[in-house]
Amino acid sequence: MLVDANDAIAQFVGRGVGVTKKAEANLMKRDQEQQDKKREYAFQMAPRCTAKSKRTGQRCKAPAVRGWNVCRFHGARGGAPKGKANGAWKHGHYSEAARAERFLVKRLLKDASSLQKLLS
Ligand SMILES: [Zn+2]
Repeated sequence: MLVDANDAIAQFVGRGVGVTKKAEANLMKRDQEQQDKKREYAFQMAPRCTAKSKRTGQRCKAPAVRGWNVCRFHGARGGAPKGKANGAWKHGHYSEAARAERFLVKRLLKDASSLQKLLS
C-alpha cells in the first residue's frame, strides 16, 4: 500500500518532492561576452624585465623599474655609489672618467702610429 502511494506521488510530481529544475543561466559563470573580453590594466602594459632564468631560459616577465631594463630582483638600482661617495675610493685612478680618458689617449696614439705607418 505504502509503495503504491509513493509511486503515485512520484508520478504526480515528477522526480520527487522538493526537486527544482536547473536554472537556464548558470549564475556562477559570467556572460560569454564578458569572458571573451579580457580586462587589461595599465600595469600590464609596463615594460618587462629582460632578465633570463639560467635554469629554464625563460624571461622574468616582472615589470621593469622605471629607467631600467630589469626588475627590482634583477639588479635595478643596484651597485655601489659612484665617485668619492664609494667607500673604496682612494685616488680616482680607476674611476669611470679616468678609464675613459686613458682609453681615448690609447686610441689616439694607436691611430697616430697607424697614420705614420701609412705616410712613410
Ligand atoms: Zn626580473
